Amino acid sequence: MSRVSQLYELQEVDSGMESRVARMRQIDAQMVDSPEVLSAKSAHDEAVALLADAQAHLKRISHETEEVSTRLRTQEKRLYDGKIKNPKELWQVQEEITHLKERLKDDEEAVLQAMMNAEEAEAVAGARRGELDNLCKELEQYQVGLIEEKDKLLSQAKVLQVKRQKMVMELPASDLQAYERLRRGKAGVVVAPVRGGLCGGCHVAVPANILRAARSGNNFVYCPSCGRILYPIGEVRFEEFNHDLDNVGR
Ligand SMILES: [Zn+2]
Repeated sequence: MSRVSQLYELQEVDSGMESRVARMRQIDAQMVDSPEVLSAKSAHDEAVALLADAQAHLKRISHETEEVSTRLRTQEKRLYDGKIKNPKELWQVQEEITHLKERLKDDEEAVLQAMMNAEEAEAVAGARRGELDNLCKELEQYQVGLIEEKDKLLSQAKVLQVKRQKMVMELPASDLQAYERLRRGKAGVVVAPVRGGLCGGCHVAVPANILRAARSGNNFVYCPSCGRILYPIGEVRFEEFNHDLDNVGR
């Protein structure tokens, strides 16, 4: 294995590690509650609060209505049991009964309306609960998938880590240093594969003489355009062949 291909393999391992680490970070970010679940939670909380209000209102006016009804029964009993002899007092009781009857009618209507409101609020709260439960179930299933994916990525990253350690031990120290130094400035691509005569790092055509030098020797040959180490592979042979054919004609 040439020095360049050794570095290229190291780069493949490093890129593989980086993409896995990036995906694992992404998964960690997705493991928190989704905005849909958060808004379903607040919609449910709101519906529950409205239901509590409606039920409290119903309870309060039912109690008031009960009091009016009791007072009415008491006064009606007084009116008809013959114990009140004073006509003025009788008239007053009669007046109050009329007033209480009117009030009871209004109150009973209000209770009916409050009952309907409470039932409606209960239905809404139930629906919100159902929506929230469904979203939570979906999220759980989604997260189970993510956890499985992360486990897989983690074991792959461990394999790559071991592979990297072995590769690093086989590399000349100066090559590794050159690689690490370049890697910081070249967005992770130190060794640029050359395909179709183009540098894989900057996509600029590599001059034929430089391409030949890159293929023939065991020394590093750098792209004149971006400074990456050139690694001619694949159809590069064909490109070189074309260049050679061009030269034959001259
Ligand atoms: Zn280049």
